Amino acid sequence: MSEAPNAELPKSVDPYRLAEQGSTLEGVVPLVSLSRFRDTVSRLPEGSECHVSLTFGLDEERRRVVSGKLSATVVLECQRCMGDMQSQLESGFELGLVASEQQAQQLPKNLEPFPVEDFSMDVWTLVEDELLLALPAFPLHDRSECPATKDLEALEPDPEPEEPEAESTRENPFSVLAGLKNTKH
Ligand SMILES: [Zn+2]
Repeated sequence: MSEAPNAELPKSVDPYRLAEQGSTLEGVVPLVSLSRFRDTVSRLPEGSECHVSLTFGLDEERRRVVSGKLSATVVLECQRCMGDMQSQLESGFELGLVASEQQAQQLPKNLEPFPVEDFSMDVWTLVEDELLLALPAFPLHDRSECPATKDLEALEPDPEPEEPEAESTRENPFSVLAGLKNTKH
């Protein structure tokens, strides 16, 4: 736990300096300030924020790296009932700071390249990108909690009794074909 977990993260930092110092940044980013993210969720309760922890450092090959974690509670639209559903987004990521395309290609696979220009890292944009990646593609309530589940179950009859019948109709055409082939030889 950080001493000031609810302080806003700086919008931009010098990631090289922080990596040399081995610093950890902890704080929040107000979700309402992240316009691309704001447009993808159905609504943002007042005061919604993303909790972020970023640890800067050097790996064993003296690459500058950032280990990050974030979490946010958001309201998404359930794709079954189209109602609001509260969802906890959690994400962890490992970044390698790079100054060129060539450096990016040399990174090991476990590091996501993060381009740094002019000793500056746009922290809020990073948080927004990682939040967008953490969004489920097809958000759904748990079946037991979704108001649409009962309607769906009424529409979809239990498929199990139909299966033996489907199998026998599937077998018949094959045995007919096999019989035709045999008579030709
Ligand atoms: Zn639902």
